[in-house]
Amino acid sequence: MKKHYRVENNCLNCSELVTGKFCSECGQENIEVRENFWSLLTHSVSHYFHFDNKFFNSFIPLITKPGYLTNEYNAGRRVSHLPPVTMYLFISFIFFLFVLPHQNWEAQSYKVLDQGREKELFTLNSKLKSSNISAQERTNIEKKIDILQSQKNNGLNIS
Ligand SMILES: [Zn+2]
Repeated sequence: MKKHYRVENNCLNCSELVTGKFCSECGQENIEVRENFWSLLTHSVSHYFHFDNKFFNSFIPLITKPGYLTNEYNAGRRVSHLPPVTMYLFISFIFFLFVLPHQNWEAQSYKVLDQGREKELFTLNSKLKSSNISAQERTNIEKKIDILQSQKNNGLNIS
């Protein structure tokens, strides 16, 4: 997006003399403040998504070089990287936008239930194999196994 710089060289924020594109006193960009609706909208959106190459400068080391970003941050080299909270919010946004809608939560919850049932069956079967259980306990365990086994065969969930 093309920026429209002001011809006046007084800072609108602190009234200091501006020699470049930014005020050397407060850092505000000496930019035209009146915008039409469309540029206001695109400006606002791009403010949140326009990270130049900061994103990749931060994301790739985050994955490939553990501790690198922390050392950079502590050494004071911060402008070339995305601020940690911004990075976190951006990645969360991407996650919720692209990953969540494609998850089959129902199938996953059935899978967890199936795994729970398998675990329970395994535990009960190993209890059955041990010799130091009473006849009463044995019948109880066999009943439980029957119930779980029939649930498994009928594709039902553990209630
Ligand atoms: Zn200023």
